Amino acid sequence: MAFNKRVKIQELFTQNQEGKEIVLMGWVRTKRSNKNVSFIALNDGSTIKNYQIVADPNKIDEELLKKATTGACLKITGTVVASQGAGQSTELVASQIEVLGEADAEKYPLQPKKHSLEFLREIAHLRMRTNTFGAVFRVRHALAFAVHKYFNDKGFFYIHTPIITASDAEGAGETFKVTTLDLKNPPLNEDGSINYKEDFFERETNLTVSGQLEGELAAMGLGEIYTFGPTFRAENSNTARHLAEFWMIEPEMAFYDAEDNQNLAEDFLKYVINYALENCQDDLEFLDKRAAEEETSKKADQRSEMGLLERLQFVVTNEFQRLTYTEAIGILKNSNHNKKKKFQYVVEDWGVDLQSEHERYLVEKHFKKPVILTDYPKEIKAFYMRQNDDGKTVAAMDILFPGIGEIVGGSQREERLDKLTQRMEEMHIPTEEMWWYLDTRRFGATPHAGFGLGFERLVLFVTGMGNIRDVIAFPRTPGHAEF
Ligand code: ATP
Ligand code: MN
Repeated sequence: MAFNKRVKIQELFTQNQEGKEIVLMGWVRTKRSNKNVSFIALNDGSTIKNYQIVADPNKIDEELLKKATTGACLKITGTVVASQGAGQSTELVASQIEVLGEADAEKYPLQPKKHSLEFLREIAHLRMRTNTFGAVFRVRHALAFAVHKYFNDKGFFYIHTPIITASDAEGAGETFKVTTLDLKNPPLNEDGSINYKEDFFERETNLTVSGQLEGELAAMGLGEIYTFGPTFRAENSNTARHLAEFWMIEPEMAFYDAEDNQNLAEDFLKYVINYALENCQDDLEFLDKRAAEEETSKKADQRSEMGLLERLQFVVTNEFQRLTYTEAIGILKNSNHNKKKKFQYVVEDWGVDLQSEHERYLVEKHFKKPVILTDYPKEIKAFYMRQNDDGKTVAAMDILFPGIGEIVGGSQREERLDKLTQRMEEMHIPTEEMWWYLDTRRFGATPHAGFGLGFERLVLFVTGMGNIRDVIAFPRTPGHAEF
């Protein structure tokens, strides 16, 4: 006999089921009892809303009801009736309760009270049962679905790029090694270095930091593609915006120049944010209130001017501000903030990399809207970005969001073989090993462009959460690989 003949609580709020006999399954959030009646707030994860179960101790065995404590998992059969109480239009009058899984009330870590996010991170295996994390992960799901829908509707193809690679696309040297060699006794070359010819892949390999290079290869045949997969960076930064394992969305398009790329990125971001606004109303309203409460504990000058929902609406309805790196440096240099030395890193010369504080100043204080910064100095960007005619800058773009800083990094790619190899040599990137990448410039090259969106940074923005560790189910950061 099939076990799962349940109704999801979500359905009880969208369809009128009054008078029907149904089965619910879920976890007890709270229970209130008196001599005559018990009220159980049940949640099954399908919605942020709990459903009220009414149990009459004369009909339901008292011992059973005692076991229905916070955290216990129940199967309840009953009849949907119009509710007497405020707060819900219907409720379930239980005729039968089965305890699927007890939860020792003394030991259960999630008590019906407010827990700190830091504490919940330590019990990440249970935090999915809280309102906040239920909301975050339903929104995360909706955003992931919207990503696929957006690209599919536009005729892009989803490509799965490898997770194990021999290249470090960003050249930043922040890779995790992949090896089957015995670390205690590795085979050595005559000069004492490790002999990777003896390793599984007969070469040095690592976890990918980006699917872009392979994405470009695919775009050079399929036209418009995107990747959506895990990426790994061993950066020891420990910030609220960096994970060691995160998910990246990387569209790559043949026949796109830098401006086409900016247009696509802006349209895409607005689409997925709008999708969440339209499909996650209950969760976003909850997160909006949560974020507002959080704001009250911040210093006055660090509070954001808009609430979460207001901010999301603002982003989907306003044009992003586009300007060049050179223009941005001018604004930053002449800002009172800079003159009063309020930046930790004072902006002096053209050519410096922008720090997160500078990016956020532009977005939050100066323009008060998302910013697309373009045409960065070639020295601070990757080898594959297309060189501009000025000989100094490349056709890069970073998209900067309020509260986040960089959310997207992208560029038009260098399609001219001579320019590309020259830049690789300048940056000491071995051209022989990258023969396959250069082949796309040797055979049938065309202008093309693409970008990378850090998925968790998008989820951070849309949920209004403050720390990237709270928008991925089981975060990987320096010192943390539990669960
Ligand atoms: P940052 O300067 O913030 O470290 P980056 O310049 O290293 O970013 P890119 O290499 O351009 O980032 O990667 C593309 C996108 O991936 C970024 O815009 C960001 O959204 C996301 N991203 C990069 N590193 C991380 C990370 N460690 N954790 C989560 N997301 C990341
Ligand atoms: Mn980085």
